[in-house]
Amino acid sequence: MNTEIYKYLFLIIYYWKSDVAMASYLQWMSQVLKEAISLGGLPEELHDLIFKPERVISVKIPVKMDNGKVAVFEGYRVQHNSVLGPYKGGIRYHPDVTLDTDMALALGMTLKNSLANIPYGGGKGAVKVDPTKLSSRELEELSRGYVRALYKFIGPEVDIPAPDVNTNPQIMAWMVDEYSKLSGRNVPAVFTGKPPELWGNPARIYSTGFGVAILAKAAADAFMGGIEGKKVAVHGFGNVGSYAAYWLSKLGAKVIAISNIYGSVYDPNGIDVELAISKPEVIKDVRTYPKGQKSNDTDVPLFVDADILVPASLENVITPEKVERVKAKLIVEGANGPTVPEAEKLLYSRKGFHAVIPDILANSGGVVMSYLEWVQNLYWFNWSEEEAREKLRIIMMDNFKRVMEAWKRLSDKNADKLVTMRDASFALSVERIYKAMKLRGQI
Ligand code: NAD
Repeated sequence: MNTEIYKYLFLIIYYWKSDVAMASYLQWMSQVLKEAISLGGLPEELHDLIFKPERVISVKIPVKMDNGKVAVFEGYRVQHNSVLGPYKGGIRYHPDVTLDTDMALALGMTLKNSLANIPYGGGKGAVKVDPTKLSSRELEELSRGYVRALYKFIGPEVDIPAPDVNTNPQIMAWMVDEYSKLSGRNVPAVFTGKPPELWGNPARIYSTGFGVAILAKAAADAFMGGIEGKKVAVHGFGNVGSYAAYWLSKLGAKVIAISNIYGSVYDPNGIDVELAISKPEVIKDVRTYPKGQKSNDTDVPLFVDADILVPASLENVITPEKVERVKAKLIVEGANGPTVPEAEKLLYSRKGFHAVIPDILANSGGVVMSYLEWVQNLYWFNWSEEEAREKLRIIMMDNFKRVMEAWKRLSDKNADKLVTMRDASFALSVERIYKAMKLRGQI
């Protein structure tokens, strides 16, 4: 009896706490947006115009399960802002997603796409599901069901989804197939992140991680005398984290710690990322990596003696409670929203701390490559993997340069207060949205 009570108490506290954490991500995005608008000297009403989503779609997705019963899943698509172009952003499958998280992520996409100078607005989708509990057939049914539920609201010039946490090229292939069947013609440009064999580009799978590595190198060149031999720790060894680690090691850095949902590996002599990434069992559970010190603690990479930390799992990972133990002098955000603003302020107050390269800049490689894939699809044309990767590198470096210049300009202008690289990125992004709104007569 007592055990039952404790179990329910635990669940109540767990759900209450996770709700608070999710809501706060949306709240702090709002706060940073306000600051960016004020930094740029732009009208106050811009906050609500940008913050509030244009449209929120909530759908039910019934799926006939392998046991013969019908399960009903909850899905969302937040079409956040379309002033710069079609809505664009990933679809997340996760048991903890809420509409609040989805809205925060969609706002992040609006800002990211604006900052990257690509012709997209922002959006984000989600399904509340633990995909590890589904068979492949159930996963396919769910993915097709999501497309059927949203068919009328998406399209190559309307809303172009892509992969995010727990979704992948195979899922995009099912989705584009379902959309094409409903349309009665092939429509490759409605989803990006597709397999190379089905209108995708081979560089898309690693593009977010590649972009993270390119920016980590650019920042290490600017602040730390180069990337060669710098110690890197990666929290979250999924799509973004594993490829960021791979490209960083290719660029000469030493990856000393990685983690995923099950635990972590630490090796001060360096992890062989090429080996790690080649083994599906390591991607599934990093503790199966054959060398190094293993632990069930997923937060080990946050606290090791690294020069550069790449948080690449989920939001709200670097909190004020944890930040005291973070040793890295440079943080490059592979994930969306991993650093809570109060923690970020504490980091900047430290002597010798260089910067948090914010998500909307650091992890934009995925959406920039998605843009290239979309352009390919609209013209039924292909760039080679190398051409696409080089285009991505040039765009990422150009965006880094623009943010660095804006950061310096805004810091000089506001010498009495802390201006973070995130503030500068948000300010640049908001300025472009504001100009477009003005030209379109919306403000
Ligand atoms: P993924 O599902 O491939 O990887 C997520 C990884 O994080 C997994 O290895 C998982 O085990 C790990 N993880 C989850 N909880 C953890 C915890 N508490 N401690 C340690 N590890 C944990 O997802 P992804 O596509 O790599 O996305 C990761 C982040 O990057 C998300 O915030 C996503 O929104 C963002 N992002 C992804 C892309 C993309 O192209 N996939 C683009 C931009 C941003």
